Amino acid sequence: MQKIVETDIAIVGGGISGLWLLNRLRQLGYSTILLESATLGGGQTNKSQGIIHGGMKYALQGKLTSASQSISDMPTVWKACLAGHGEIDLHHVPVLSEHQYLWSTGKLAGKLTGFFANVALQGRVAELKPNAYPDVFKDPQFKGLVYSLDEMAVDVNVLVRELVKPHQDVIFKIGALSEDSLHLDETGRLIALEVQTASGEAIQIKTQKTIFTAGAGNEMVLKKLNSKTVAMQRRPLHMVVVKSDFSYPVFAHCFGMGATPRITITTHIAADGKTVWYLGGQIAEEGVKLDSPSQIAIAKKELTALFPWLDFSASHFASFMIDRAESAQPGGKRPDSSEFKEIENMIVAWPTKLALAPKLADDILACLQKTATKKGMCDIRALRAFPMPAFAKPIWDELL
Ligand SMILES: Cc1cc2nc3c(=O)[nH]c(=O)nc-3n(C[C@H](O)[C@H](O)[C@H](O)COP(=O)(O)OP(=O)(O)OC[C@H]3O[C@@H](n4cnc5c(N)ncnc54)[C@H](O)[C@@H]3O)c2cc1C
Repeated sequence: MQKIVETDIAIVGGGISGLWLLNRLRQLGYSTILLESATLGGGQTNKSQGIIHGGMKYALQGKLTSASQSISDMPTVWKACLAGHGEIDLHHVPVLSEHQYLWSTGKLAGKLTGFFANVALQGRVAELKPNAYPDVFKDPQFKGLVYSLDEMAVDVNVLVRELVKPHQDVIFKIGALSEDSLHLDETGRLIALEVQTASGEAIQIKTQKTIFTAGAGNEMVLKKLNSKTVAMQRRPLHMVVVKSDFSYPVFAHCFGMGATPRITITTHIAADGKTVWYLGGQIAEEGVKLDSPSQIAIAKKELTALFPWLDFSASHFASFMIDRAESAQPGGKRPDSSEFKEIENMIVAWPTKLALAPKLADDILACLQKTATKKGMCDIRALRAFPMPAFAKPIWDELL
């Protein structure tokens, strides 16, 4: 006889969005399981720079866009969680930097001042006196300006572990799901999700709602559902990691001429204790057509131009490509906020930003309440044959 699992909700995908949602749903009493086919956090989540954006990065053209408005509450939500009195207790998660900084090169300092003169932006940024600059900008060769933004950076690898910690009993490593794993009835409703044990035994998972937070893996689901109402887009990045012997922590966007920062740097400590600078921003967007040696050459040139007082000749560089997976937008633009779509008894969701995971969870919870999802179905004994997935390694420790 085929084994059946019953649970109120199954989440597919163990990145930030699935894990945040798992915490919220279980707090509210929904019996919930999470299925992951690879490693926890190993999709986009552990490639993220961990910046809890408040939207300033999106306001670089001098006005608050709808993208920056929708994300502006997120630092407050996260701060409460990180202080231990928010919707999820994250007080063990290290805050790597209380602020993300914004700096200009000497040439653009005037433009930056003009930018912050915009009334709408005042109060969200603070111009720093040189003695308050982060150490890396205290060199006499630095001729620009530095502002501090109300955006912190968190340790994403610890974050993933903390979100998993209370829920290890309901997180299972399954084989990769395929379109055949989704059993639909003739109206397109999901009857069961089929997973197989290592010995090839099929198990049917029956739920009231199945929520796909599988990042780029959501594409397979949309294909199976043949949905006309929602599609996914990928926006690639070519990120660079740099490991050096010097230990300047830098959490900063460099103000360039465009709408995206010229470069965004966050700092992390590798397993060998050395300092890693992780480079995103315009350099990562424009580098997607380059191979790794060419992207690394550009990164070296850019760092040397921006920090002429530092010597990168002994630093180790690596680069990798990664797609941001999001709900499709006209012209492939960045979505303004997190997005989800309810299709029959399924939900397909993308947070768009790590910072927006709490908003995405709130929106999905509101949707479940509207559709009167009940609490109480629970028989997950057949899943005990599945182990818990491993945690993904920090990307710099994988590459360097
Ligand atoms: C380079 C980079 C830097 C970023 N920096 C920031 C930042 O600083 N701040 C910020 O707010 N946002 C940032 N983002 C965006 C943020 O990382 C993503 O929006 C967020 O991590 C997406 O989380 P997710 O849980 O939806 O997807 P993912 O993290 O991709 O997780 C999806 C999970 O689903 C699993 N999966 C896939 N298919 C299946 C399947 N068939 N069955 C079971 N499991 C499956 C995957 O293995 C993976 O673990 C960044 C993104 C990138 C790429």
